[in-house]
Amino acid sequence: MSRAGFVCVRGAREHNLKSVDVDIPRDALVVFTGVSGSGKSSLAFGTLYAEAQRRYLESVSPYVRRLFHQLGVPDVDRIDGLPPAIALQQQRGTPTTRSSVGSVTTISNLFRMLYSRAGHYRKGRPMLYAESFTYNLPEGACPVCHGQGRIYEVTEESMVPDPSLTIRERAVAAWPTAWQGQNLRDILVTLGYDVDRSWKNLSDKDRQWILFTEDQPTVPVYAGLTPAETRRALRAKMEPSYQGTFTSARRYVMETFTKSHSAMMKKRVSAFMLSTECPSCHGERLRADALEVTFAGLNIAQMGNQSLKATRSQLMRYASGEIFEPSHTAEKIETARTITKDIVSRLDALVDLGVGYLSLERNTATLSPGELQRVRLATQLHSNLFGVIYVLDEPSAGLHPADTQTLLRALDALKRAGNSLFVVEHEIDVIEHADWIVDVGPGAGSNGGEILYSGEPHGLVDLPASQTARYVFGRFQPSTHDPRSPKGWLRLKGITRNNLHGLDVAFPLGVLTSVTGVSGSGKSTLVSQVLVDLVSESLGQAMEASEPDEEDVDVAPASKTEGRIVEGARSVKRLVRVDQRPIGRTPRSNMATYTGLFDHVRKLFAETEMARARGYDAGRFSFNVAKGRCETCQGEGFVMVELLFLPSVYSPCPTCHGARFNAETLEVTFHDKSIADVLNMTVVSAAEFFQAELAIARSLNFLLEVGLGYLRLGQPATELSGGEAQRIKLATELQRPQRGDTLYVLDEPTTGLHPADVERLLVPLNRLIDLGNTVVLVEQDMYVVASSDWVIDIGPGAGDEGGKIVAQGTPWSVADGAGRTAPYLRRFLR
Ligand code: ADP
Ligand code: ADP
Ligand code: ZN
Ligand code: ZN
Repeated sequence: MSRAGFVCVRGAREHNLKSVDVDIPRDALVVFTGVSGSGKSSLAFGTLYAEAQRRYLESVSPYVRRLFHQLGVPDVDRIDGLPPAIALQQQRGTPTTRSSVGSVTTISNLFRMLYSRAGHYRKGRPMLYAESFTYNLPEGACPVCHGQGRIYEVTEESMVPDPSLTIRERAVAAWPTAWQGQNLRDILVTLGYDVDRSWKNLSDKDRQWILFTEDQPTVPVYAGLTPAETRRALRAKMEPSYQGTFTSARRYVMETFTKSHSAMMKKRVSAFMLSTECPSCHGERLRADALEVTFAGLNIAQMGNQSLKATRSQLMRYASGEIFEPSHTAEKIETARTITKDIVSRLDALVDLGVGYLSLERNTATLSPGELQRVRLATQLHSNLFGVIYVLDEPSAGLHPADTQTLLRALDALKRAGNSLFVVEHEIDVIEHADWIVDVGPGAGSNGGEILYSGEPHGLVDLPASQTARYVFGRFQPSTHDPRSPKGWLRLKGITRNNLHGLDVAFPLGVLTSVTGVSGSGKSTLVSQVLVDLVSESLGQAMEASEPDEEDVDVAPASKTEGRIVEGARSVKRLVRVDQRPIGRTPRSNMATYTGLFDHVRKLFAETEMARARGYDAGRFSFNVAKGRCETCQGEGFVMVELLFLPSVYSPCPTCHGARFNAETLEVTFHDKSIADVLNMTVVSAAEFFQAELAIARSLNFLLEVGLGYLRLGQPATELSGGEAQRIKLATELQRPQRGDTLYVLDEPTTGLHPADVERLLVPLNRLIDLGNTVVLVEQDMYVVASSDWVIDIGPGAGDEGGKIVAQGTPWSVADGAGRTAPYLRRFLR
């Protein structure tokens, strides 16, 4: 079956794929298209990439294999002609790592070499090794702040927020809670401190000692005794409950912060710390002699903090030999020329891919997934690899249409170098640029999983079943709606954050607003950071969705929003961010539990005759409760099998075979279906099955409305895509009792969505507005922008060249303007 120049897949059955056969050309740009959930990723990542990875891992020792992230063996009969593959998937940077744009692109290494070998040293100073220019190594780190750039300190005010409290009332808020807190209090009692006097009435000396001493006396503790009883016990030399060791509040905070492995604990104590710039390095993190060395008049920290674009234009003249450090010898000039040339060509790739507004020092944890993917892509352009397949996941995500051409150029460059590009993508310009299209569909989930088309783009035109054809060949309706009028305005004034400087902006209430602009122009800063911060502050509402994950704790203080709401704050009573984060972290959460519809289902089962006869309540039908679930797998449906020397694998539970419940529970049926059968139903079939049950039918209808009919009710949260999770959240919002005063914020909701799904996404958004709510989107998809009521275009450029409002108004008025968005928007309007 092998065919020269092709990767030949036979019998692919991963996830929803229906045992498909497909031949895909190598050394070409191949785009995988299809509606969300059709099976594109299952083919490109789940089958092709997974198989390439598996073959590679077979060739290395089991020990090394364990170190890799295990993808599992794809369900496919055979694949021929498959080269090694590299996946550039959309994912957030690992928040805990100290990685920066400079380190992931390895450009920082080149700069260290440049400063070490060709930097400008003060007279008489010795040349430093490259290691001296990194704050991640003791050789280079500022000895005062250990390379952090900031000093963390505690003060009486930060640790004792309310001095009117007594120690017993937890005046020392920084101390641990629960048992440990009691222990410290009891120790103070033994030591003779008055724990029932308010903090401010204690002597200076006592307050200082309790908060700041480095001493750690160990004393007898009489747990549960009053201070008077303790004094008596001490005098009588009674046997103490135990010996306790004192730790001052500062010592506790500092030790927990530097030594604890628990992110939660660190986060808790960091709230009692104040950070100030390091007085020695002034935040530049390096030792003093390294900061003295300059190139082009800048030290390495200053170089790393300016935009990549600025750095490139500075170094270009050194690379071309046009200028050089006057003090340099011919040899040094040559060294500088070679290294800057290498740096410039790497920066070219980054600037071309539209991320020139980033700096080398920018922490990758703060990049959007699309930015990070393009940074990685630019790095690959310099890897000199050939003969590999790059598998990419929507590289256009977050890119303004104006920047798509540069992305295509980068993909072409990798292809010219002798590689294959397999790209999952929805953007029409990318699809049109493909050498080959693999269209998966026709629908999602069990309605998809077939190859509708595999061939050159023009052949797709005759394919009525393909949803993609309709969009590629422009057979869809431009927007003609009448924009709704705002019922008020939310005005923000004097906003300063990231690249926004003193900006004033007004968001219309009761309508759909899209905030547009090139990547890096400041859209997310304005909407996801500033708007969300100011509104939640005015509501006094902790933003659940925007709260960092447990592992997101970043020691560096997050940038702060300056600015205030000057009008309209009272019209917004609730703020909801609908993001693409998972609806749960474990397979125990799923759509049925998240939307709450499973509660109703369980009640129905509890009301059946058999359940009542046996005394089963609703809890019996939960796989999270011991009563009714399968005990072998504890309601998970599968068990983990530990293999010696090999990664553990999951296999279906031998007792319940994936049903998750015990046999007695499964005997109870509702209209002949067990509770496990219900979890296995798709939304479509469940809607039919439960049509007489109003509460359940209502939830299901909202899920149908957002286009999730193909999902199974019990599909684990961990298997859902970001787009699916976002639509489940929207459906859950729709089923809430509505008061019409909520502000919904969505950052690039069309990421991962096929144009057909984008149309569908607008339905629930418009419905939220019809109910009187306000929706603000960060959006690049011009179809959505054209369908909005109001557009705010940020720009004109990225980073320092952006951050201003270049146009605002209805889509029609913005399309008539001169902004960079205008020509792209015009195509979608009539
Ligand atoms: P696409 O990339 O076209 O959006 P996917 O390949 O991600 O689609 O998904 C195809 C189908 O497979 C969907 O019904 C999806 O819910 C299902 N699916 C995806 N990941 C998993 C998984 N890990 N386990 C089981 N089913 C999955
Ligand atoms: P957009 O959403 O339009 O792509 P952003 O609001 O993400 O743009 O970025 C605007 C500017 O602010 C860019 O220069 C970006 O590098 C900078 N920026 C964004 N987030 C952060 C952050 N967490 N820390 C530092 N700079 C940031
Ligand atoms: Zn320092
Ligand atoms: Zn089981």
